[in-house]
Amino acid sequence: YFNEMEVVFDSRSENEGFARVAVAAFMTQMDPVLEEVADVKTAVSEAVTNSIIHGYEGRTSGKITVWCGIEKDKKTILITVKDQGIGIENVEQAMEPLYTTRPDMDRSGMGFAFMEAFMDEVQVESVPGKGTTVWMKK
Ligand code: ATP
Ligand code: MG
Repeated sequence: YFNEMEVVFDSRSENEGFARVAVAAFMTQMDPVLEEVADVKTAVSEAVTNSIIHGYEGRTSGKITVWCGIEKDKKTILITVKDQGIGIENVEQAMEPLYTTRPDMDRSGMGFAFMEAFMDEVQVESVPGKGTTVWMKK
């Protein structure tokens, strides 16, 4: 990588904005167009929000790790959002648009669909009881 960074923060909704802005600030080295920054911010927000509300089910004691790597050509950024929460039993199903396990919380099941729409590649690795890592490329 040309440059990498990692931040670890508590699973608190206040930190969703922090994560979004930290990644956006780091990305400026790529000389991105505004739309690219907006896309990445949306995707990071969705992934971090998922870790907070689904992964840790609102428990603020959990930690979330966001890693970013800018590739040598400075044209591509790789991002991972990782939690040690409850994990996902069926990733394929979870990624389907409109699928949500929390309709009671007014969730619409569009988070993964947005990540896939706004990023060039999204991969999800999850082990029930161990946690979830979302890997994204732009
Ligand atoms: P929205 O994002 O529209 O508010 P949502 O969060 O339910 O709704 P997605 O973000 O697409 O929709 O996630 C789909 C489902 O995948 C969630 O309802 C949840 O069951 C599961 N999920 C997503 N991320 C995680 C995670 N980090 N840990 C555990 N489960 C997750
Ligand atoms: Mg979501």
